[in-house]
Amino acid sequence: MVALICDNKFDFSVLRKQYNEAEIYNSLSDCLADKRNFTAVFISFFSLKQCEDIIRGLRRSDRYYATPVFSDHPDLRKELIDGNFDNHDMNNKSIDNINRNFSSLKDYRASSWKRKMLAYLYCRRDIEIHPETAPDNRLYYNYPLLKLFDNEDDNQEYVFTELSGKNILSENRLIDRIFTCPHCFSARLCFSERCPSCNSVNIKTVDFLHCFTCGMVGPEDDFVTEDKLICPKCRAKLNHFGEDYDKTLESGVCFECGEYHTESKPLAFCIDCKKHSLPENLTKHSIYTYNLTDLGRDQILNGTASSMLHMRDKDNYVHLPYFYDILDWFLEMQRVHHDEYMFSILGVKVDWDSYEIISSIAKKLRSIFEPTAIATKNLTGYFWFLLPGTDKKQLKAIEKNVLTFFDELECPTAADTAVKLFPYTAAKGSQRQVKAKTLIAEIATEK
Ligand SMILES: [Zn+2]
Ligand SMILES: [Zn+2]
Ligand SMILES: [Zn+2]
Repeated sequence: MVALICDNKFDFSVLRKQYNEAEIYNSLSDCLADKRNFTAVFISFFSLKQCEDIIRGLRRSDRYYATPVFSDHPDLRKELIDGNFDNHDMNNKSIDNINRNFSSLKDYRASSWKRKMLAYLYCRRDIEIHPETAPDNRLYYNYPLLKLFDNEDDNQEYVFTELSGKNILSENRLIDRIFTCPHCFSARLCFSERCPSCNSVNIKTVDFLHCFTCGMVGPEDDFVTEDKLICPKCRAKLNHFGEDYDKTLESGVCFECGEYHTESKPLAFCIDCKKHSLPENLTKHSIYTYNLTDLGRDQILNGTASSMLHMRDKDNYVHLPYFYDILDWFLEMQRVHHDEYMFSILGVKVDWDSYEIISSIAKKLRSIFEPTAIATKNLTGYFWFLLPGTDKKQLKAIEKNVLTFFDELECPTAADTAVKLFPYTAAKGSQRQVKAKTLIAEIATEK
């Protein structure tokens, strides 16, 4: 049985014939109030906004986040619906496919908007997630599919970057590579030309003349007296180009400081954080279309099975629950066997909440640790390293390496980045029973 949500103008006799049984509602809330589960939802409203609101409501609901949805509104983005009303055979095929895929997810817990979205993708095999330009967005792009499921996440722009880092999505096609502000990563930049000496915008490009008699170089206007060219310094008459004078490379003059220049200085102004940056200091951000990977499909099918927890991301960081599991094992082994399971932990807190900064630091930071170290990170700027066979003295040396690493970090914002270290070495012969999670919390609050 299918549901039809429509305004009163819709003639539903055809639809009722095509789908045997159809229940009609005037609003989404009426449809959601019906406790029956519909195999598909058809939406027909005069206004685009009404259609979009209903689709959004379905995707955020607990029952219809992955259900096939069709609409006959001509202006609706095609990737947000599973088809229009025209092709009944194809629609029936889609309904079967999507619902068959969905029924294979019977143990799946759609506990968050992200998990609802992943289930939605899982049910639609060949879907490609497209970005669209969005001047209101800090990155100038957003993903309509993402906005369908969520509108509140702070780091929404980076949800797909995160998922592709975990190999759940793959970057499919490069759509754009944009410049962003190195301080706040906004793409809303305003460029202007400045005087290289005093930074003023009050500059102009003019022709410059060079007097052969005295060597004077200046804007052409200064040489023109009535309709003759006369050097303002030595009063020589400049009659013949190439013999008395020529033109020079300098072409800009600043009305603020009076200096001449060959090239003006371009400067980017960030509309969001109001800071100026030189073009060479701007950061870059790539915009892709995305696809669900086979691995991602596998993980959605198996829920949060161990395969997902054991996975390392592309920079060789493990998921936090897995990190806790290993640390629990180390703590237990150390308690039972004492010194044989000597280990240290190093926490690194980077006081910067930008996803871009943290992910660029993550890769480089991981490479200064031994491959045997077990590393984990979270988006709030905490990195944890579990270092098997490392004593207090060796840990000190590692701490020094980490601090040197941050001192030498080539990053325009490095100066603003505060770094804190949380070292810990398991005490010899300790009989204390403590859970990994508690221990990490203790270490992080010790200073
Ligand atoms: Zn002269
Ligand atoms: Zn100037
Ligand atoms: Zn900025």
